Amino acid sequence: MQEIRNAILADNLAELATIPVPETYQAMVVLAEEADMFAGLDSRDKDPRKSLHLQEVPTPELGPGEALIAVMASAINYNTVWTSIFEPVSTFGFLKRYGASSALAKKHDRPYHAVGSDLAGVVLRVGPGVTKWKAGDEVVAHCLSVELEDPQGHDDTMMDPQQRIWGFETNFGGLAELALVKSNQLMPKPDHLTWEEAASPGLVNSTAYRQLVSQHGAGMKQGDVVLIWGASGGLGGYATQFALNGGAIPVCVVSSPEKAEICRAMGAEYIIDRSAEKYEFWKDGQQQPSEWKRLGKKIRELTGGEDPDIVFEHPGRETFGASVYVTKRGGTIVTCASTTGYWHEYDNRYLWMTLKRIVGSHFANYRESWEANRLIAKGAIHPTLSRVYPLAETGQAAYDVHKNLHQGKVGVLCLAPEEGLGVRDQELRAKHIDAINRFRNR
Ligand code: NAP
Repeated sequence: MQEIRNAILADNLAELATIPVPETYQAMVVLAEEADMFAGLDSRDKDPRKSLHLQEVPTPELGPGEALIAVMASAINYNTVWTSIFEPVSTFGFLKRYGASSALAKKHDRPYHAVGSDLAGVVLRVGPGVTKWKAGDEVVAHCLSVELEDPQGHDDTMMDPQQRIWGFETNFGGLAELALVKSNQLMPKPDHLTWEEAASPGLVNSTAYRQLVSQHGAGMKQGDVVLIWGASGGLGGYATQFALNGGAIPVCVVSSPEKAEICRAMGAEYIIDRSAEKYEFWKDGQQQPSEWKRLGKKIRELTGGEDPDIVFEHPGRETFGASVYVTKRGGTIVTCASTTGYWHEYDNRYLWMTLKRIVGSHFANYRESWEANRLIAKGAIHPTLSRVYPLAETGQAAYDVHKNLHQGKVGVLCLAPEEGLGVRDQELRAKHIDAINRFRNR
């Protein structure tokens, strides 16, 4: 592995094709034998530091249409939190089902799950049939794994019935020294970013793009008022940027003055600190419509009397009733998650009588992922990286995200020995350096 790392650090990328692929590599894994380790505990008390282990694992065999990547850096996504606390289900069921689906996929069914759905790195080898990528190419990978043998996914690859999230519903993810992807997950690494910056937008940036911008999601347009929950978090940090970039008006909800300051630094004017406002949407197991109204009033105070055209939803049970209530007549609640619980409750009168829509959204199709990465590469949207951990401390990094102790994205160094490496376009970087650093060390 050292030879591969040295070749990349010395910029001898052409050499990579001749260096033998190591038989094993270090990966951050959860273990099938530990899937019940947190049984009986409250979700909040399940600790990713106990379930995520750095282990030497065998390098998987490279199949047709696949690529093996030397991973320089990765990032924590909430899906790694879910995997590491074995909620809502253990991910070993996904690996078993995928493994049973074809001879090529059989290798994914192992007693360990190498996790992680983002990477920036260098192509080491490509499998038979891959012509667009070669050893030595600097890449990032989006996390959409599809087979495309069924017609349903031919217009919109997210509709493929064999759709999976790489590193969550498949094995050999990005929180490791090596990763295995389908070659059509690969995209060019943005030249002006370091390895850890380039690895951080992938999953959340693409998800926020589909959810908010794409016609498959809310189809946001200029002038739309957009209520964004967790506006300085993983998804929200990109949703806020997309709203500002697209001429919309974000109303950012956060939980501290520090997070409010980050939103202001991104250019948002309307910010609600939900902790300072002490919203209590649920009390003694009952929804509190008076609290929905208090939120709606606050939004109108900020916007000069306007309600949100779009609510960018992901907290789920805790906020969903309020989100449906505050949305403008004819507006859209677009949801991609249920962090606080997936049994949502809302007053349906506020949906049908005022002609609102609830839209479900999940990751992004190939094209949306490519467009989202293109915006990063052009310096139109910026990484939201705050802290970076070494691979061995991935458990702590996931713990921070689980406990909501983080801002934006938390990065992980894999083969990169330190932060700050991998920049090719210093000129573009210099132009955007303040925006790139907005979330750093917060
Ligand atoms: P994140 O970085 O933890 O950000 C979520 C933000 O939500 C937090 O920063 C927090 O902001 C806010 N929040 C937490 N609890 C809340 C509550 N009770 N009420 C209101 N706001 C609350 O996570 P993320 O990466 O944005 O992911 C969020 C969720 O989306 C996760 O469940 C994840 O699994 C899911 N997700 C789904 C997809 C998909 O494709 N379907 C893709 C990405 C993520 P404040 O404390 O500042 O309010």
